[in-house]
Amino acid sequence: MEAWQKALLAWYRENARPLPWRGEKDPYRVLVSEVLLQQTRVEQAALYYRRFLERFPTLKALAAASLEEVLRVWQGAGYYRRAEHLHRLARSVEELPPSFAELRKLPGLGPYTAAAVASIAFGERVAAVDGNVRRVLSRLFARESPKEKELFALAQGLLPEGVDPGVWNQALMELGATVCLPKRPRCGTCPLGAFCRGKEAPGRYPAPRKRWAKEERLVALVLLGRKGVHLERLEGRFQGLYGVPLFPPEELPGREAAFGVRSRPLGEVRHALTHRRLLVEVRGALWEGEGEDPWRRPLPKLMEKVLRKALPLLAHAGVVPLPDA
Ligand code: SF4
Repeated sequence: MEAWQKALLAWYRENARPLPWRGEKDPYRVLVSEVLLQQTRVEQAALYYRRFLERFPTLKALAAASLEEVLRVWQGAGYYRRAEHLHRLARSVEELPPSFAELRKLPGLGPYTAAAVASIAFGERVAAVDGNVRRVLSRLFARESPKEKELFALAQGLLPEGVDPGVWNQALMELGATVCLPKRPRCGTCPLGAFCRGKEAPGRYPAPRKRWAKEERLVALVLLGRKGVHLERLEGRFQGLYGVPLFPPEELPGREAAFGVRSRPLGEVRHALTHRRLLVEVRGALWEGEGEDPWRRPLPKLMEKVLRKALPLLAHAGVVPLPDA
Protein backbone atom coordinates (compact mmCIF):
# COMPACT_ATOMS: atom_id res chain seq x y z
CA MET A 1 0.00 0.00 0.00
CA GLU A 2 1.29 3.47 -0.82
CA ALA A 3 1.89 6.14 1.81
CA TRP A 4 -1.06 8.29 0.71
CA GLN A 5 -3.40 5.31 0.94
CA LYS A 6 -2.23 4.59 4.48
CA ALA A 7 -2.68 8.26 5.36
CA LEU A 8 -6.22 8.27 4.00
CA LEU A 9 -7.24 5.13 5.87
CA ALA A 10 -5.71 6.37 9.14
CA TRP A 11 -7.55 9.66 8.72
CA TYR A 12 -10.83 7.84 8.02
CA ARG A 13 -10.51 5.66 11.12
CA GLU A 14 -10.16 8.78 13.25
CA ASN A 15 -12.51 11.16 11.47
CA ALA A 16 -15.39 9.30 9.87
CA ARG A 17 -18.65 10.93 10.90
CA PRO A 18 -20.76 8.65 13.11
CA LEU A 19 -23.63 8.07 10.68
CA PRO A 20 -26.37 5.51 11.28
CA TRP A 21 -25.24 3.29 8.40
CA ARG A 22 -21.54 3.21 9.39
CA GLY A 23 -20.34 -0.37 9.69
CA GLU A 24 -23.62 -1.64 8.26
CA LYS A 25 -23.20 -4.78 6.15
CA ASP A 26 -26.79 -5.70 5.49
CA PRO A 27 -27.14 -5.18 1.70
CA TYR A 28 -30.67 -3.80 1.87
CA ARG A 29 -29.73 -1.24 4.50
CA VAL A 30 -26.62 -0.27 2.58
CA LEU A 31 -28.74 0.16 -0.53
CA VAL A 32 -31.25 2.41 1.24
CA SER A 33 -28.48 4.60 2.66
CA GLU A 34 -26.76 4.90 -0.72
CA VAL A 35 -29.94 5.75 -2.57
CA LEU A 36 -30.84 8.38 0.00
CA LEU A 37 -27.38 9.92 -0.04
CA GLN A 38 -27.39 10.41 -3.79
CA GLN A 39 -29.29 13.65 -3.75
CA THR A 40 -30.04 14.46 -0.14
CA ARG A 41 -27.94 16.24 2.49
CA VAL A 42 -26.41 13.80 4.93
CA GLU A 43 -28.33 15.01 8.01
CA GLN A 44 -31.58 14.64 6.16
CA ALA A 45 -30.55 11.29 4.71
CA ALA A 46 -29.86 10.02 8.26
CA LEU A 47 -33.34 11.08 9.33
CA TYR A 48 -35.05 9.40 6.37
CA TYR A 49 -32.85 6.33 6.67
CA ARG A 50 -34.22 5.67 10.17
CA ARG A 51 -37.76 6.52 9.21
CA PHE A 52 -37.71 4.39 6.07
CA LEU A 53 -36.18 1.33 7.77
CA GLU A 54 -38.52 1.58 10.71
CA ARG A 55 -41.45 1.29 8.34
CA PHE A 56 -39.80 -1.07 5.79
CA PRO A 57 -37.16 -3.03 7.73
CA THR A 58 -36.54 -5.59 4.96
CA LEU A 59 -36.69 -5.85 1.19
CA LYS A 60 -39.75 -8.08 1.68
CA ALA A 61 -41.56 -5.49 3.78
CA LEU A 62 -40.85 -2.89 1.10
CA ALA A 63 -42.15 -5.16 -1.64
CA ALA A 64 -45.35 -5.77 0.32
CA ALA A 65 -46.11 -2.04 0.71
CA SER A 66 -48.03 -0.01 -1.85
CA LEU A 67 -46.14 2.57 -3.90
CA GLU A 68 -48.28 5.32 -2.44
CA GLU A 69 -47.27 4.33 1.08
CA VAL A 70 -43.59 4.21 0.14
CA LEU A 71 -43.85 7.66 -1.39
CA ARG A 72 -45.56 9.00 1.69
CA VAL A 73 -42.71 7.79 3.93
CA TRP A 74 -40.23 9.25 1.43
CA GLN A 75 -42.12 12.53 1.34
CA GLY A 76 -39.79 15.47 1.89
CA ALA A 77 -36.62 13.60 0.89
CA GLY A 78 -37.18 14.71 -2.73
CA TYR A 79 -36.25 13.00 -6.00
CA TYR A 80 -39.13 10.55 -5.77
CA ARG A 81 -37.92 8.46 -8.66
CA ARG A 82 -35.45 6.98 -6.21
CA ALA A 83 -38.24 5.70 -3.95
CA GLU A 84 -40.12 4.39 -6.93
CA HIS A 85 -37.03 2.53 -8.17
CA LEU A 86 -36.38 1.05 -4.74
CA HIS A 87 -39.95 -0.18 -4.60
CA ARG A 88 -39.80 -1.67 -8.08
CA LEU A 89 -36.50 -3.33 -7.26
CA ALA A 90 -37.93 -4.82 -4.05
CA ARG A 91 -40.70 -6.38 -6.09
CA SER A 92 -38.32 -7.78 -8.69
CA VAL A 93 -36.01 -9.86 -6.42
CA GLU A 94 -36.31 -11.79 -3.16
CA GLU A 95 -32.88 -10.69 -2.03
CA LEU A 96 -30.05 -8.57 -3.37
CA PRO A 97 -27.54 -10.57 -5.43
CA PRO A 98 -24.00 -10.58 -4.03
CA SER A 99 -22.03 -9.24 -7.00
CA PHE A 100 -21.58 -5.96 -8.84
CA ALA A 101 -22.41 -7.54 -12.21
CA GLU A 102 -25.73 -8.92 -10.98
CA LEU A 103 -26.66 -5.87 -8.95
CA ARG A 104 -26.07 -3.74 -12.04
CA LYS A 105 -28.81 -5.66 -13.88
CA LEU A 106 -31.47 -4.70 -11.33
CA PRO A 107 -33.96 -2.00 -12.35
CA GLY A 108 -32.84 1.52 -11.47
CA LEU A 109 -29.45 0.57 -10.03
CA GLY A 110 -26.68 2.64 -11.61
CA PRO A 111 -22.98 1.73 -11.56
CA TYR A 112 -22.24 3.83 -8.51
CA THR A 113 -24.96 2.33 -6.29
CA ALA A 114 -24.27 -1.22 -7.47
CA ALA A 115 -20.56 -0.75 -6.70
CA ALA A 116 -21.27 0.77 -3.29
CA VAL A 117 -23.53 -2.15 -2.28
CA ALA A 118 -21.17 -4.78 -3.75
CA SER A 119 -18.13 -3.36 -1.97
CA ILE A 120 -19.66 -2.35 1.36
CA ALA A 121 -22.07 -5.24 1.92
CA PHE A 122 -20.31 -8.04 0.04
CA GLY A 123 -16.66 -6.97 0.15
CA GLU A 124 -16.24 -7.10 -3.64
CA ARG A 125 -13.19 -5.30 -5.00
CA VAL A 126 -14.99 -2.72 -7.07
CA ALA A 127 -14.53 1.05 -6.98
CA ALA A 128 -17.59 3.21 -6.26
CA VAL A 129 -17.18 6.56 -8.01
CA ASP A 130 -19.63 9.26 -6.95
CA GLY A 131 -19.24 13.03 -7.27
CA ASN A 132 -17.04 13.17 -4.17
CA VAL A 133 -14.65 10.51 -5.38
CA ARG A 134 -14.56 12.11 -8.82
CA ARG A 135 -13.49 15.41 -7.26
CA VAL A 136 -10.90 13.92 -4.90
CA LEU A 137 -9.24 11.83 -7.61
CA SER A 138 -9.32 14.63 -10.19
CA ARG A 139 -7.50 16.89 -7.74
CA LEU A 140 -5.15 14.29 -6.34
CA PHE A 141 -3.94 13.39 -9.83
CA ALA A 142 -4.53 16.81 -11.43
CA ARG A 143 -6.97 15.61 -14.09
CA GLU A 144 -9.02 18.44 -15.50
CA SER A 145 -11.78 16.66 -17.39
CA PRO A 146 -11.46 12.94 -16.81
CA LYS A 147 -13.92 10.78 -18.72
CA GLU A 148 -16.16 8.53 -16.63
CA LYS A 149 -14.48 5.35 -17.90
CA GLU A 150 -11.02 6.70 -17.30
CA LEU A 151 -11.94 7.75 -13.80
CA PHE A 152 -13.45 4.39 -12.99
CA ALA A 153 -10.35 2.59 -14.28
CA LEU A 154 -8.15 4.90 -12.19
CA ALA A 155 -10.28 4.32 -9.07
CA GLN A 156 -10.33 0.58 -9.68
CA GLY A 157 -6.54 0.48 -9.94
CA LEU A 158 -6.20 2.35 -6.66
CA LEU A 159 -8.08 -0.19 -4.52
CA PRO A 160 -5.41 -1.26 -2.08
CA GLU A 161 -4.67 -4.95 -1.44
CA GLY A 162 -5.66 -6.36 1.91
CA VAL A 163 -8.11 -3.56 2.75
CA ASP A 164 -11.89 -3.93 2.91
CA PRO A 165 -12.93 -2.30 -0.40
CA GLY A 166 -16.10 -0.96 1.24
CA VAL A 167 -14.02 0.88 3.81
CA TRP A 168 -11.68 2.20 1.13
CA ASN A 169 -14.55 3.50 -1.02
CA GLN A 170 -16.16 5.15 1.98
CA ALA A 171 -12.86 6.73 3.04
CA LEU A 172 -12.50 8.44 -0.34
CA MET A 173 -16.13 9.58 -0.28
CA GLU A 174 -15.82 10.87 3.27
CA LEU A 175 -12.75 12.90 2.36
CA GLY A 176 -14.66 14.46 -0.53
CA ALA A 177 -17.69 15.16 1.64
CA THR A 178 -15.87 16.75 4.58
CA VAL A 179 -12.38 17.96 3.50
CA CYS A 180 -11.96 18.09 -0.27
CA LEU A 181 -15.05 20.27 -0.60
CA PRO A 182 -16.18 21.58 -4.00
CA LYS A 183 -15.74 25.29 -3.29
CA ARG A 184 -13.31 25.60 -0.39
CA PRO A 185 -11.26 22.45 0.03
CA ARG A 186 -9.49 22.29 3.39
CA CYS A 187 -6.08 21.50 1.96
CA GLY A 188 -4.37 22.75 5.13
CA THR A 189 -5.80 19.89 7.19
CA CYS A 190 -6.08 17.29 4.44
CA PRO A 191 -4.33 13.96 5.08
CA LEU A 192 -3.43 13.87 1.38
CA GLY A 193 -1.94 17.38 1.32
CA ALA A 194 1.61 16.07 0.91
CA PHE A 195 0.63 13.86 -2.04
CA CYS A 196 -1.87 16.01 -3.90
CA ARG A 197 -0.90 17.32 -7.37
CA GLY A 198 -3.89 19.59 -7.65
CA LYS A 199 -3.79 21.40 -4.36
CA GLU A 200 -2.16 24.58 -5.75
CA ALA A 201 -5.29 25.22 -7.81
CA PRO A 202 -7.97 22.78 -6.66
CA GLY A 203 -10.69 24.87 -8.37
CA ARG A 204 -9.34 23.70 -11.75
CA TYR A 205 -10.04 20.04 -10.97
CA PRO A 206 -12.34 18.77 -12.20
CA ALA A 207 -13.31 21.48 -14.70
CA PRO A 208 -16.87 22.66 -14.02
CA ARG A 209 -19.58 20.92 -16.00
CA LYS A 210 -22.00 22.87 -18.10
CA ARG A 211 -23.72 25.79 -16.45
CA TRP A 212 -27.19 25.91 -15.05
CA ALA A 213 -29.97 26.63 -17.46
CA LYS A 214 -31.90 29.88 -17.19
CA GLU A 215 -34.73 30.05 -14.69
CA GLU A 216 -37.96 28.67 -16.11
CA ARG A 217 -41.21 30.46 -15.23
CA LEU A 218 -44.32 28.46 -14.37
CA VAL A 219 -47.67 29.09 -12.72
CA ALA A 220 -49.18 26.90 -9.98
CA LEU A 221 -52.93 27.25 -9.61
CA VAL A 222 -54.32 26.49 -6.14
CA LEU A 223 -58.07 25.95 -6.45
CA LEU A 224 -59.90 25.88 -3.16
CA GLY A 225 -63.15 23.95 -3.32
CA ARG A 226 -65.73 23.00 -0.69
CA LYS A 227 -63.64 20.21 0.88
CA GLY A 228 -60.14 21.29 0.07
CA VAL A 229 -57.70 21.79 -2.77
CA HIS A 230 -58.03 20.46 -6.31
CA LEU A 231 -55.20 17.95 -6.81
CA GLU A 232 -54.10 16.09 -9.90
CA ARG A 233 -51.98 12.99 -10.30
CA LEU A 234 -48.62 14.15 -11.56
CA GLU A 235 -46.76 12.72 -14.54
CA GLY A 236 -43.14 12.37 -15.60
CA ARG A 237 -40.53 12.71 -12.88
CA PHE A 238 -43.26 13.12 -10.23
CA GLN A 239 -45.28 10.09 -11.29
CA GLY A 240 -47.22 8.61 -8.39
CA LEU A 241 -47.35 11.93 -6.54
CA TYR A 242 -50.00 14.63 -6.43
CA GLY A 243 -50.05 18.36 -6.96
CA VAL A 244 -52.00 21.40 -8.11
CA PRO A 245 -52.04 22.29 -11.83
CA LEU A 246 -48.63 23.57 -12.93
CA PHE A 247 -48.17 25.11 -16.38
CA PRO A 248 -46.46 27.86 -18.42
CA PRO A 249 -47.82 31.39 -17.78
CA GLU A 250 -49.39 31.70 -21.25
CA GLU A 251 -51.81 28.88 -20.38
CA LEU A 252 -53.31 30.77 -17.43
CA PRO A 253 -56.37 32.27 -19.18
CA GLY A 254 -57.34 28.89 -20.67
CA ARG A 255 -56.92 27.08 -17.35
CA GLU A 256 -58.94 29.71 -15.47
CA ALA A 257 -61.70 29.44 -18.05
CA ALA A 258 -61.71 25.64 -17.78
CA PHE A 259 -62.25 25.81 -14.01
CA GLY A 260 -64.54 28.89 -14.18
CA VAL A 261 -62.37 30.98 -11.84
CA ARG A 262 -60.38 34.22 -11.75
CA SER A 263 -57.23 33.71 -9.69
CA ARG A 264 -55.11 36.15 -7.74
CA PRO A 265 -51.36 36.05 -7.04
CA LEU A 266 -50.25 34.61 -3.69
CA GLY A 267 -46.48 34.83 -4.07
CA GLU A 268 -43.55 33.13 -5.74
CA VAL A 269 -41.61 29.96 -5.09
CA ARG A 270 -38.14 29.07 -6.33
CA HIS A 271 -37.21 25.44 -6.77
CA ALA A 272 -34.25 23.59 -8.27
CA LEU A 273 -34.60 20.25 -10.03
CA THR A 274 -31.68 18.22 -11.36
CA HIS A 275 -31.25 20.21 -14.57
CA ARG A 276 -33.82 22.97 -14.21
CA ARG A 277 -34.39 25.96 -12.01
CA LEU A 278 -38.00 26.98 -11.60
CA LEU A 279 -39.59 30.26 -10.63
CA VAL A 280 -43.21 29.44 -9.87
CA GLU A 281 -45.89 32.07 -9.47
CA VAL A 282 -48.45 30.70 -7.03
CA ARG A 283 -52.01 31.83 -7.77
CA GLY A 284 -55.16 30.94 -5.88
CA ALA A 285 -58.92 31.05 -6.42
CA LEU A 286 -62.12 29.87 -4.74
CA TRP A 287 -63.66 27.17 -6.85
CA GLU A 288 -67.04 25.47 -7.20
CA GLY A 289 -65.66 21.90 -7.08
CA GLU A 290 -64.96 19.68 -4.05
CA GLY A 291 -61.21 19.30 -3.64
CA GLU A 292 -59.47 17.38 -0.84
CA ASP A 293 -57.05 17.73 2.05
CA PRO A 294 -53.70 17.98 0.25
CA TRP A 295 -51.58 16.95 3.25
CA ARG A 296 -52.97 13.42 3.10
CA ARG A 297 -51.40 12.80 -0.31
CA PRO A 298 -47.75 12.22 -1.22
CA LEU A 299 -46.54 15.57 -2.54
CA PRO A 300 -43.23 16.50 -4.14
CA LYS A 301 -41.23 19.16 -2.32
CA LEU A 302 -42.14 21.74 -4.97
CA MET A 303 -45.86 21.24 -4.29
CA GLU A 304 -45.32 21.47 -0.54
CA LYS A 305 -43.68 24.85 -1.11
CA VAL A 306 -46.53 25.95 -3.37
CA LEU A 307 -49.19 24.95 -0.86
CA ARG A 308 -47.39 26.64 2.00
CA LYS A 309 -47.37 29.82 -0.05
CA ALA A 310 -51.13 29.42 -0.41
CA LEU A 311 -51.68 28.86 3.33
CA PRO A 312 -53.39 32.22 3.92
CA LEU A 313 -56.00 31.31 1.32
CA LEU A 314 -56.40 27.78 2.69
CA ALA A 315 -56.62 28.94 6.31
CA HIS A 316 -59.04 31.71 5.38
CA ALA A 317 -61.47 29.21 3.94
CA GLY A 318 -60.96 26.99 7.00
CA VAL A 319 -61.56 23.79 5.10
CA VAL A 320 -58.00 22.61 5.04
CA PRO A 321 -56.22 21.98 8.34
CA LEU A 322 -52.69 23.30 8.55
CA PRO A 323 -49.94 20.68 8.21
CA ASP A 324 -47.48 19.87 10.97
CA ALA A 325 -44.54 22.25 10.82
S1 SF4 B 1 -4.97 18.56 -0.65
FE1 SF4 B 1 -6.77 19.81 -1.06
S2 SF4 B 1 -7.28 19.41 -3.19
FE2 SF4 B 1 -5.88 17.78 -2.55
S3 SF4 B 1 -7.21 16.12 -1.88
FE3 SF4 B 1 -6.73 17.33 -0.06
S4 SF4 B 1 -8.39 18.85 0.12
FE4 SF4 B 1 -8.48 17.96 -1.95
